[in-house]
Amino acid sequence: MENSIDAGASSITVRVKDAGKTYVQVVDNGRGMSDNDARLCFERHATSKISEANDLYAIRTMGFRGEALASIAAIAEVSLKTRNSSNEIGTLIRAAASAINSQEPVNTPVGTNITVRNIFFNVPARRKFLKSDQAELRHIIAEFNHAALAYPDIEFFLLHNNTQVFNLPVSNIKKRISGIFGKNIQQNLIDIGTETSIVKIYGYTGKPEYAKKTYGEQFLFVNNRFMKHPYFHKAIMKAYEEILPSDHYPAYFIYFETDPSAIDINIHPTKTEIKFEDERSVWHILHASTKEAIGRHNLSPSLDFDKEGIIDIPSLRKDQQINMPKENINHDFNPFESENQPFGLQRRSSDSYQDWQKLYDKKDNQDLSPGLGFFKDESDTAANEARYLQLKGKYILAPVKSGLMVIDQRRAHERILYEKHIAIFKKNSSASQQTLFPETIQLNTGDYHLCLEILDEIGKLGFEIRDFGQNSIIIHSVPANTAVHDIKSVIETLLEQYKNLHSELKLDQHEKVARSTAIASAIHYGKQLTIKEMQEFVDQLFACSNPNTTPGGRTILNIVKLEDLEKHLA
Ligand code: ADP
Ligand code: MG
Repeated sequence: MENSIDAGASSITVRVKDAGKTYVQVVDNGRGMSDNDARLCFERHATSKISEANDLYAIRTMGFRGEALASIAAIAEVSLKTRNSSNEIGTLIRAAASAINSQEPVNTPVGTNITVRNIFFNVPARRKFLKSDQAELRHIIAEFNHAALAYPDIEFFLLHNNTQVFNLPVSNIKKRISGIFGKNIQQNLIDIGTETSIVKIYGYTGKPEYAKKTYGEQFLFVNNRFMKHPYFHKAIMKAYEEILPSDHYPAYFIYFETDPSAIDINIHPTKTEIKFEDERSVWHILHASTKEAIGRHNLSPSLDFDKEGIIDIPSLRKDQQINMPKENINHDFNPFESENQPFGLQRRSSDSYQDWQKLYDKKDNQDLSPGLGFFKDESDTAANEARYLQLKGKYILAPVKSGLMVIDQRRAHERILYEKHIAIFKKNSSASQQTLFPETIQLNTGDYHLCLEILDEIGKLGFEIRDFGQNSIIIHSVPANTAVHDIKSVIETLLEQYKNLHSELKLDQHEKVARSTAIASAIHYGKQLTIKEMQEFVDQLFACSNPNTTPGGRTILNIVKLEDLEKHLA
C-alpha cells in the first residue's frame, strides 16, 4: 500500500484470502513500472528515492530503503503485473524465494498489481508463528486503516475472502473516519487546528461523551504517516483530564505537518515511533489546541466524574436528543442470593476446604497464603465474629488478631472470577448465565474482529454473543452476577483488557480470556455489600489458590498491624 501511495495511485484495492495466509493482493492505478524496473524492484536497495545523503532528511514518501519487495520475495511466491504509461504492453514477473522465475509480456492497465501467495512457504518455522485468522486479519485491517486515514483523497477497498470489508470513496478526513468507524462517530468529532512555525496540526478530537473504555480510535499522523507517540497521547489525555474518568479514552485523529528534516523516522520502514526535534514545544501546542477545541465546543469541565468510574453521568446539551432509558434490568436478580454461590464461584469439593478460617487453622497450611502467617489459631480469625465493615464502597475491613485486615473488594472479586474461569476451561464445562433482552453493540472494526476471535471462549464463561454483521455483535446472555445495566461497558472493558494482554506471549488464550473477563465482570467500587455478602466474599477469596494478589499481580489484601495503629494514637 505504501508503494502504491508513493506511485501516485488514486485507487488502491487490497484483497486477502484467509487473513493473508493464502494470498494478499494489492492493486493500484499508480504510475507503474517499466519492464526493467519491474525486474529490479526485487533487488535489495532497489529504491529510487535516495540519490544523495541529504535526501534521507527530506523523505516524505513512505518507503525509503528498497527492502520491502526484496524481503517479501524472499519468503513467499510473488507475482507482479505492472505497466507504465509509456508502454502499451505491461510485464508479468513471477518470483519466489528470492529468484525471478519468469517474465513475460501481459495485457494490463497502467498501474501495479502485486500478489503475494503462501507467505513463509519456504520458512515453515515462521509460518507456524502466524496467529489465528482473526488476529492476522486485525493486523491487516489496522495497517489498512492507517493508510486510509492518512490519505482520504485516495479511494481504498479491502476485501476478505471475496467479501467487502471496506469501501472508502475519495472524501475528506471526517467522511473517511466515519467510513471506517461508522456513521455514529461523525457527530462526535470536534475539529482541531493550529498553525505555528514549527508544526501545523489539524484533524479531530472526540467529544467526551463518546469516549470509550477501550483503545482503538486514537490516531496520530505526521506528514501523512501513521505514528505511535505515547508522549503526544498524554498531551491529549491531559486536555481531557478533568472531564473524563481516567479509564476512558477519547477518540482522536490528529495530523501533524512539519518540515521532514525536523523529525527522525529512525530510517526503518516499519518503525512507527517518530522523534520530533522539538517535542516539548509540540506537546504544548498539541495540548493547548486540544483543550481549546474542547472548550470551544462548550464541553469543558463541570462534570465531576468519580475517579473510580462508579457513576456515569452523561452530559447533556441543547442539541442533544433525549431517549427514554431502556429497561434492561432483571429486578428479581440478586447477585448475592443465587444458588448460594454469591460471586459465582463453584465451590470446590468439600474436602479441599470448608471455610477460610479453618484453612488457616491448620499450621501446615500457612504456605497457601504466605502473607498471612498471622492466622495461627481459631481466635485469630475475623470470620468467627463476622465483624466486617465496608469502607468507602471499596474496602472490606475485618479485625484479626494481629491488627486490621483490609481487602480490596474489586480486586478480590477479580481473583475469585479468574479462578472460576480457569476451572471452567479446565473442566470444559460452562458457566451459569443470565439471559438478557438481546442487545446489539456497535464496535470498531478492530474490536469487532477481536471479539469474533474470542467468541467461543467467552461463550464458555457465560457471554453468549453472536456476530451481528457490519461490525456489530448481539449479546444474548452474560455470566450470572454481571451487572446487566452496563453490558456495553463490560464488553468494552473485556476487549480492552484482552488487548492489553495480547502481546504477552507467555500467556495462552485461555489465560488471557480468563483474566480479561474477570476484570470486566468484577464488582465495581461503590457497590455496597451487606455483612453476609462480605462474609461470603471473604470465604470465596480464601478458597482461591492465591488470595493475595490479582492474576495481574496487584495486592488484594493487607494487614494493618496493631503496633502501627497504636503508633498513630501514641
Ligand atoms: P521502497 O518503497 O523503500 O523504495 P520497495 O522494496 O517497497 O522499496 O520497492 C522498491 C521499488 O519498486 C520502489 O522504490 C519503486 O520504484 C518500485 N515499486 C514498488 N511497488 C510499486 C508500485 N506499486 N508502483 C510503482 N512502483 C513500485
Ligand atoms: Mg516500499
